[in-house]
Amino acid sequence: MAEETIFSKIIQHEISADILYQDHLVTAFRDINPKVPNHILIVTNQLIPTVNDVTAEHEAALGRLFTVAANVAAQEGIKEDGYRLIVNCNRHGGQEIYHLHMHLLGGKPLGPLMI
Ligand code: 5GP
Repeated sequence: MAEETIFSKIIQHEISADILYQDHLVTAFRDINPKVPNHILIVTNQLIPTVNDVTAEHEAALGRLFTVAANVAAQEGIKEDGYRLIVNCNRHGGQEIYHLHMHLLGGKPLGPLMI
C-alpha cells in the first residue's frame, strides 16, 4: 500500500482546500500555487501513485477525471476559449505529489506545449 499523501488529507477533509467538486471517485480543488488564472487539480480518491500504477480497475475513476474536467471548465467559464489538461509522471515528468492527478489549466492563452 502506498503512503497517504497531502491530497489524501484534502480528499478526507483533514486539511483545507478550495474544493469545487467531489464524488466517490474523484475530487477537484484549486491548486495552492496557481500557474495560470484557472489552475485546478482533479485527483482520484483512491491513491494511485503514478500513471505507471494504473490498471483496468481504475478506468472508471480515470474516465471521471475527464468528465469532471469538462464540467469544471464550464463552471469556470473557460470551456469556449479552451484549456490544457496535464498529467505528470515521475521525475522526468515533473511529478511532485505521488497521487495521480490531472491539472486543468486555463484562463489565458497557454501557447505551445512547454518541454
Ligand atoms: P505535480 O507536479 O505533482 O503534477 O503537481 C502537484 C501540484 O500540487 C502543484 O501544482 C502544487 O502547487 C499543488 N499542491 C501541492 N501541495 C498542495 C496543497 O497542499 N494544496 C493544494 N491545493 N495544492 C497543492
